[in-house]
Amino acid sequence: MSKSLSPDKIMQHLQESWRKLPDYRQANNNTKYEVADAALSAYSVFLMQSPSFLAHQRDMQQRKGKDNAATLFGVRKIPSDNQIRNLLDPVTPDHFWADFRWMHQELEQSGALAAFQDYKSTYLIPFDGVVFHSSEKIHCDNCSHRQDCNGTTHYYHSAILPVIVKPDSAHVLSLPPEFIVPQDGHEKQDCERAAVKRWLAHHHEQFESQSVTFLGDDLHSNQPLCELIDQTYEQFFIFVCKPDSHPTLYQWLASLEGAGGLEGKQERHWNGRHGEIWAYRFVNQIPLRAGEDALLVNWLELTITHEDTGKQLYHNAWVTNHRVRLKNVAPLAKMGRTRWKVENENINVLKTKGYNLEHNFGHGQRHLSNVFFSLNILAFLTHTAQHLLNKAYTLLRDTLAVRRTFFNDLKALTRYIVFDSWDALFAFMLEGLELELSP
Ligand SMILES: [Zn+2]
Repeated sequence: MSKSLSPDKIMQHLQESWRKLPDYRQANNNTKYEVADAALSAYSVFLMQSPSFLAHQRDMQQRKGKDNAATLFGVRKIPSDNQIRNLLDPVTPDHFWADFRWMHQELEQSGALAAFQDYKSTYLIPFDGVVFHSSEKIHCDNCSHRQDCNGTTHYYHSAILPVIVKPDSAHVLSLPPEFIVPQDGHEKQDCERAAVKRWLAHHHEQFESQSVTFLGDDLHSNQPLCELIDQTYEQFFIFVCKPDSHPTLYQWLASLEGAGGLEGKQERHWNGRHGEIWAYRFVNQIPLRAGEDALLVNWLELTITHEDTGKQLYHNAWVTNHRVRLKNVAPLAKMGRTRWKVENENINVLKTKGYNLEHNFGHGQRHLSNVFFSLNILAFLTHTAQHLLNKAYTLLRDTLAVRRTFFNDLKALTRYIVFDSWDALFAFMLEGLELELSP
């Protein structure tokens, strides 16, 4: 990469940005702590993946008169966990959108973003829903809820979590989450669809000069959303399209198939153990639904069978507004399949690898849970940006190959030693491991 991005530069940006966060306290409240310090403190816990980071830094401040929350994150005075809760609970999560955008701009200017472009220079953005809080007891004003058959109420928070993905890349670039808001009398799917529309309204401008292909499951292949993406935002989509939810489209397909109107091709692939037959079929410009105003879409299908036994190994079909041809049906199907990878990698990393630390701070009454989730995703994006743009970080992560080792080392080092900057911390680790950065 042509340019590097130091964590010190990121922290400087976040400090400047968060010093402008609104402060909702009355003048007579205890205003010893700043809202920015609460945001930086919460973010530091997510970035370090260490629930005890702040406690250690408070100790360090008492013993040495300085601490890493100040030097690495710019926290002027570390608030108590209780203060962090109170200060951040009234802040709406849209205050952090600009920080995601700033990070993406840095990635763009360095050339790292362009590396994510896929076929025909399009960026792939899957829409995936994620539940990040679930409890029978703990809830707030912004919780969704459902009752199970025993009459027990379950409270939860869920969000659309779009990311920029690239097939075969280990990294995903997080975009701001859009929270799925409960609407009385609406089905869960409706609420998820509404969240996707809000996300597009809030963030489409970021991609105005670029090509984006949105990916999603069958829940998204409906006329209002496809029309919105195709006509209002002039972008692309590849959405899973199932027969049950698209009877008219599949009637058209059946009659076209009978008349020999479907195009297609077959490829043979060797998977290391046996041959596979990849059969593609497609047709352009068929109605997505019944009615004269139906949007015309292009349909494609991939069926993979075992070469010897004929057993079906995979099948899926999509609708898209990319024109499908013999030469691009394979890359389009590959894009359509990409989203499953995202569920596996992005969401599972968040769920299982230490990013879900809500229990350390509690749930809040209003926006706290959503603010923590946003800061958590921002911390995840920070690590990815470091991986892509910081040689020292990449070398350390590759050397301390087991994920936990890297974070355990960070945790231990910052407990005992105060580092003046991230560059100093990384330099210390590189020296200790006798690693040298290539020029
Ligand atoms: Zn809640």
